[in-house]
Amino acid sequence: MKKLIIGLIFIALVSLLIMTQYPPSPVLTHLQGSTMGTTYSVQMVDMPSAINSQSLHQDLKRLLSDINGLMSTYQKDSELSRFNQNTSTDWVEVSPALLYVVDSALQFSQRSQGAFDITVGPLVNLWGFGPAVKAQQIPSANDIATAKTRTGYQHLKIRHDPPALKKARADLYMDLSAIAKGYAVDKIAEYLEKQGIQHYLVDIGGELHTSGHNAEHHTWRVAIEQPTPGLRAVQKIVEAQDMGVATSGSYRNFFQLQGQRFSHTIDPHTGWPVKHRLVSTTVLHSDTMHADAWATTFMVLGMKQALIIAEQEKLAVFLLEDTDTGVVEHYSSAFASLLIQEKHHAGD
Ligand code: ADP
Ligand code: MG
Repeated sequence: MKKLIIGLIFIALVSLLIMTQYPPSPVLTHLQGSTMGTTYSVQMVDMPSAINSQSLHQDLKRLLSDINGLMSTYQKDSELSRFNQNTSTDWVEVSPALLYVVDSALQFSQRSQGAFDITVGPLVNLWGFGPAVKAQQIPSANDIATAKTRTGYQHLKIRHDPPALKKARADLYMDLSAIAKGYAVDKIAEYLEKQGIQHYLVDIGGELHTSGHNAEHHTWRVAIEQPTPGLRAVQKIVEAQDMGVATSGSYRNFFQLQGQRFSHTIDPHTGWPVKHRLVSTTVLHSDTMHADAWATTFMVLGMKQALIIAEQEKLAVFLLEDTDTGVVEHYSSAFASLLIQEKHHAGD
């Protein structure tokens, strides 16, 4: 018996020695596809061996398709599209998930004095950024004024129990494009955690969430793009530890007329695409849906306001301004401390 125990200890020590000399190389599993008019990518490191990546992928596809079935304006029979088409001004019962996202969106509207507003949909569509294929041109002042009368988050009421939404105007139309991707990223992250997956990076169209470490056993690094149309180059790299990261910009989805750029971010107060020279906003937040909504909110508010709110809310925010002499970076104190950490790590 004694010999057996000594033998086992010996084997354990030898395997430990082998393991420390040759640590097992991390296994990266990468799932990808398209959703919400864009692409998704889920990278997982050292996934528990009991998990079958194909069936996990099926589960994730179902989860994404369920979210689309609730929140897409591109899908005509989604719960949101049906609510948009419904001209009733009575309470309409909706699923708790849709209510949660709409409720959060309304809180963003209040916090931003209406800069973030999901009822801006008719203007988004009028400017040619909605689901319908439409020539992108400057609409008439009359059409803008008419679409604007149909907007205003105050016209939308929510009830929690049972979950329901109510329009004060029959022609109210909601667009969750500025917040639903972030929500979907959080839902995928939640699902992965439930399966015991700890190290991952989930990305839907540039809104992402990180957890644990990457395949090199380092904190995940996230590249923020240069705001140059047609170019995919890196402006800055940040280490994002268990964080949601979202970017909004005017350099991807826009049209150009007479040398002017018209972006898909609409200022609900003017009815026009935002006009300032803030071209990219990146927000880091533990909750990706929040990061997503803040990024769009800051795109509407412009640089000065964005930096004031970022300080008030202690948000890590990175902004790019297009000036006559090139792109200028601005960031909040919370973002600066991420950069300091980065330098510290580099010096390790
Ligand atoms: P992306 O879709 O490129 O990640 P955003 O998260 O900023 O960018 O979402 C932009 C989309 O949000 C627009 O295409 C439009 O559908 C919608 N939108 C535009 N302006 C606003 C606004 N002021 N408030 C809420 N949603 C908006
Ligand atoms: Mg957004």
